[in-house]
Amino acid sequence: MSIAINTNKCVGCGRCVEVCPGNLIKMDGGGHARQMHPRDCWGCTACLKACPAGAVDFFLGADIGGRGATLSYREDGPIVTWTVNKPDGTTRAITLNKQDANRY
Ligand code: SF4
Ligand code: SF4
Repeated sequence: MSIAINTNKCVGCGRCVEVCPGNLIKMDGGGHARQMHPRDCWGCTACLKACPAGAVDFFLGADIGGRGATLSYREDGPIVTWTVNKPDGTTRAITLNKQDANRY
């Protein structure tokens, strides 16, 4: 599993560095985040959720049936949106309200 950091969107806040449980992300000399060991990423998505700039995407590789699609995360108050961006240019969005979590 692996992520992709868009350095054009990265604002250098360092939150992804702080939250990665494997210390797999470092800041480079230009003030942008870089994933250092992609093969060690286990896909917890903490860095996606922490990024305020939407600069981190997650690869959905063939090993998990993603066929090269990417997954992005956006948050607007309690509303979170997970979007699957497929290689053919189509997307599929899943929107959730965090306030509805754990309701039984
Ligand atoms: S998905 Fe999790 S393990 Fe992988 S780089 Fe992001 S925070 Fe680290
Ligand atoms: S959390 Fe996002 S904006 Fe902040 S350093 Fe990481 S990639 Fe850049």
